[in-house]
Amino acid sequence: MDVYEGKAKKVIPLDEEKVILEFKDDATAFNGEKKAQFRGKGWLNAQISAHLFKILEEKGVKTHFIGIAGDNKLIAERLRMYPLEVVVRNVVAGSLKKRLLLAEGTELPEPIVELYYKDDFLGDPMINQYHAKILGIGEDELREMERTALKVNEILREYFREKGIILVDFKLEFGKNARGEIVLGDEISPDTCRFWDAETMESLDKDVFRFDKGDLISAYERLYERLTGEAPARR
Ligand code: 5GP
Repeated sequence: MDVYEGKAKKVIPLDEEKVILEFKDDATAFNGEKKAQFRGKGWLNAQISAHLFKILEEKGVKTHFIGIAGDNKLIAERLRMYPLEVVVRNVVAGSLKKRLLLAEGTELPEPIVELYYKDDFLGDPMINQYHAKILGIGEDELREMERTALKVNEILREYFREKGIILVDFKLEFGKNARGEIVLGDEISPDTCRFWDAETMESLDKDVFRFDKGDLISAYERLYERLTGEAPARR
């Protein structure tokens, strides 16, 4: 396996079973159309992802997280990734607002799960289970990913609620490990979730960058502090 460089991370093979995930300071939005760099973003996303993966592991969710490898790097189990983005939504925002013309901030009666085909050239189109089957993803595999995504939502929604933060929506990616198990991969960070302060309704996530709502690093730092109870250590 060669080093793989994505928009926000590098995946560096460590051995047959493990990889290093290196979180970059680069930010992109709107399928790479908007780009910038924020010193310290890689560190914050690596630490926040590690924190959330640990919580999920404690609650019985299989994730690829193994440990922190210093600064902006995590050690993770090597996975063969599905070309899928599994999105869960609790509150109307982002693309759902436009798709169904619903008012932003409306709480959904129950969570929505959506599937997207991860393909930059096509712009990550939304797909359904029939399309997934054509892409070689079995019905049972898909059902397991959806079930896990909803479990992740239950765990994290409650966790964030206790911290005074609304988990609006988020995106997960899954892969298969060497033993053939379906495992939660990628990252869970303010780059891939929407978090709103429950009191002020301020965004503590990448929408700050997408829609020029203020200083991205200070929003991510506030999130980090609310989660860990510690001041962020470095930039
Ligand atoms: P939306 O479909 O509203 O744009 O996104 C729903 C949620 O999934 C948001 O929390 C958003 O950050 C996340 N998400 C969806 N697609 C992507 C993607 O390609 N990259 C990243 N980083 N997050 C995504």
